[in-house]
Amino acid sequence: MKNSPPTDRTLRFFSPRKGDPGSDGVSVLGEKGWRLLQMASLEAPVPPGLVLPAGLSSLFNGGKGARGSAGGNDGKQGGHGTNPREILKAELEKGLVHLEEKTGKKFGDAKHPLLLSLRCSPPCHLPRKMETLVNLGLTEAGVPGLAKYNGNEQAAWDAYRRMVEGYGIHVLGVAADGMEELRGQALEDEGAEAEHQLSPKALKNLATAFRHSCEEETGVPWNEDPMTQLLDALEKGFRAWNDPSSRAFRLERGLESLPGMAMVLQAMVSGTRDGDRDGGAGQFSMRVPATGEKKPQGQYLSMALGTDLTAGIRMTDPVASLESRNPEVFSQLTEWCGALERHFRDAQDLSFVVERGELFLLDSVPAPRSPKASLRIAVELEAEGVCDEKNALVLVNPGVIEEYMHPVLDKSAHPSALTKGLPASPGSAVGEVVFFAEHAEELAARGLKTILVRHETTPEDIDGLKVAEGIVTAHGGMTSHAAVVARGMGKCCIVGAGEVRVDYLVNEMFIGNTVIKKGDWISIDGTTGEIFPGELPQVQPALEGRVAKVLEWADAHRKLRVYANADNVEDAQHALEKGAEGIGLCRTEHMFFQLDRIPIFRKMILSIDETGRSAALAELMPFQRRDFMEMFRVMEGKPVTIRLLDPPLNEFLPKGIRSQTRMARAMDIPVETVQQRIETLSENNPMMGHRGCRLAVTYPEIYQMQVRAIVEAACIVKKEGVAVQPEIMVPLVSEARELSMLRAQIEELIDQVNEEMSESISFRIGTMVETPRAAIFSRSIAPYADFYSFGTNDLTQMTYGFSRDDISIFLPLYLEKSVLESDPFIELDQNGTGRLVEIAVEEGRQVNPEIKLGICGEHGGEPGSVKFFHRTGLDYVSCSPFRIPVARLAAGQAAVEEELAANSKRNG
Ligand code: PEP
Ligand code: MG
Repeated sequence: MKNSPPTDRTLRFFSPRKGDPGSDGVSVLGEKGWRLLQMASLEAPVPPGLVLPAGLSSLFNGGKGARGSAGGNDGKQGGHGTNPREILKAELEKGLVHLEEKTGKKFGDAKHPLLLSLRCSPPCHLPRKMETLVNLGLTEAGVPGLAKYNGNEQAAWDAYRRMVEGYGIHVLGVAADGMEELRGQALEDEGAEAEHQLSPKALKNLATAFRHSCEEETGVPWNEDPMTQLLDALEKGFRAWNDPSSRAFRLERGLESLPGMAMVLQAMVSGTRDGDRDGGAGQFSMRVPATGEKKPQGQYLSMALGTDLTAGIRMTDPVASLESRNPEVFSQLTEWCGALERHFRDAQDLSFVVERGELFLLDSVPAPRSPKASLRIAVELEAEGVCDEKNALVLVNPGVIEEYMHPVLDKSAHPSALTKGLPASPGSAVGEVVFFAEHAEELAARGLKTILVRHETTPEDIDGLKVAEGIVTAHGGMTSHAAVVARGMGKCCIVGAGEVRVDYLVNEMFIGNTVIKKGDWISIDGTTGEIFPGELPQVQPALEGRVAKVLEWADAHRKLRVYANADNVEDAQHALEKGAEGIGLCRTEHMFFQLDRIPIFRKMILSIDETGRSAALAELMPFQRRDFMEMFRVMEGKPVTIRLLDPPLNEFLPKGIRSQTRMARAMDIPVETVQQRIETLSENNPMMGHRGCRLAVTYPEIYQMQVRAIVEAACIVKKEGVAVQPEIMVPLVSEARELSMLRAQIEELIDQVNEEMSESISFRIGTMVETPRAAIFSRSIAPYADFYSFGTNDLTQMTYGFSRDDISIFLPLYLEKSVLESDPFIELDQNGTGRLVEIAVEEGRQVNPEIKLGICGEHGGEPGSVKFFHRTGLDYVSCSPFRIPVARLAAGQAAVEEELAANSKRNG
């Protein structure tokens, strides 16, 4: 739904006065305006000012009275009461009277001018907005008056120079480079390092040169009227709201309903006119950004405006230097920072100016912090009583949790990386390079550590993947085989390292000119994707009590249940230790790759008729049953979702001639027979081919064996006295008939086995929603499903048409050129793939209100995506065991964020 443009154009004034800040939220006042009203209501020393609310911006951005809707008025001719400039001017004049009364100065006056700063105050982050303008209201004619009032001619001319420069660049759009050149020349002429060292004459000349530059570039004479300048600046600021990049940015994030840009106009304070006291500008916080330790932090720049700090024009001093220079100001800063932390319930970073020894606060924003610091700050703020546990919980960066799960490389010796790939699974690994899974197994059997380097991995590498310390692939994206398996195992992995070239024939890899042979040592960082030569030391971060604390908070508030993707007992056990409440995805194909099963499974694939297949499947059945019994036992009554076979059969056959020959020898058949079958089964696009439930339509006996194994296992375990909650999941459904048909077969078999075993266990039967059609046509599929599990790996692949295995070929450039903001296989594309999830949820629940909804793609452990799934109303997320704590934290935060937003006046 689109909101109509707001018509509230009443100015909001602020100056330090204890009281109620009013009920306007950031949508009316913008972030900065909202904060300033809050600060002023605490009597914080903010310079007096006013907020021009978002309603005024609609004058210039398509609202009532805007250009266009005002009958083609160009907005500058005035006089009809519908002209946006005139409406704005009328409001502004009222505002200026107020500010003149507050300050005892007069806007545009030559003797005692009221100088103003102007800042954009959007209600959300924007990629582009007008920069802060300073000293508006100062004319050349007013400089002597200002100089007299301040007793500082040099500072007065510098103020005028800044006004001309800011207005020229940011309002008139004059090139900054030209201005920079003029400035450089002026400094060189007087041998000065910074503007404040220039003589009044040089500053005056510089301002004049800037003005000429503006005239030359715009072709319009310089307008010295302060009211025109102010209106121009406001119009420019308001219009930034509808800049194409800002519009696209909001659209992409679903922020279309925000009403517009507010602006903040404020009396200037300036640390440049110091008289006999210290003047300057700075930033102050009480928390160290890297660690979160409570200690005064920040910087201070003497003889400066607030804008000089962000411009980085000169070296700053640590803010702690103010403690001796101006102890009074320093202690006020400490006090105000504490008060504002309590008010905003978060660590703050204050922007301040010291004018003639007096402290003024320009803003107070959340203090910057590393993920690690976010954890310490959250826990300490709660312990200090600055905020309650809900407010503290949302301050934690979920990425920090993963940092504590894995050993990290000690890079204190500043080693340089050989190359960088995609950071597919965090942590670090150090070991001897091997290029074949069987070499990893051989070395592991001798107790040696290996890094398995492959062009890409396939399911047949599984045993090598298991024993290797870490995995590197030259090819593949974040959901390629190596990435998914490694994350599942919590093993460090780098994929898509495009500079790595593997030569299997000579057992060597090349990275540029560097050659690494089998047996050479490398160290890899799965958090950054870096590959280092040699053996770097590893350190295990201590799992802090703070992590346990925030997870406890998250568990108390989250609505989403957190399950694990696990297909063996070790993973299931591990998942339980990490807090899993069930298994959301047991990929049964992984069970077939074990050494004792793969030959039988291959025998099934090579059988040419149903009889042969059934015989092989009967041999496999006891293995499957045992697998499921073990899982049910470990999970003790918690839900266990078992997915029936998904990948195409060709994935189970060996790729290289060596392995094909070995297979043929083991099966006592000619290698040509193996090759022929591989040829028959090969597909151009196996991900869209003969896989998932399609296999069950063509070879019903496969799912029948699996279902029998599941039901028998459940009956046996139940008889042992262990509760079971089995769920059977059908993959890759796109047509309701697929599910209705398979469901009927599965139900029949369940009844049959229950009867044979004298049991009456009930089974949930559900499906993965991983094709766009299944999502869009959810209403026809949901009647046959007790649950849905969104397979967002495949759903992303099919929504974009990006191959999950090949995306690394072009993804880096897509990111570099900002075509994509992030890898959609890592962070869910909420607008596209997410929209399909929303449709499926909405329609599915309409026809089947009891349906249980979850997600088991890799996004189930990614914090931003988990929050999206919470908002979409899913019941659970399922992710690899190592990411369970992250998912728990994100789920808790999602619930609390929703509650806080509902209670907050801030968004008003
Ligand atoms: C998915 O597609 O999201 C999924 C979990 O299945 P897989 O990754 O096994 O294809
Ligand atoms: Mg899938």
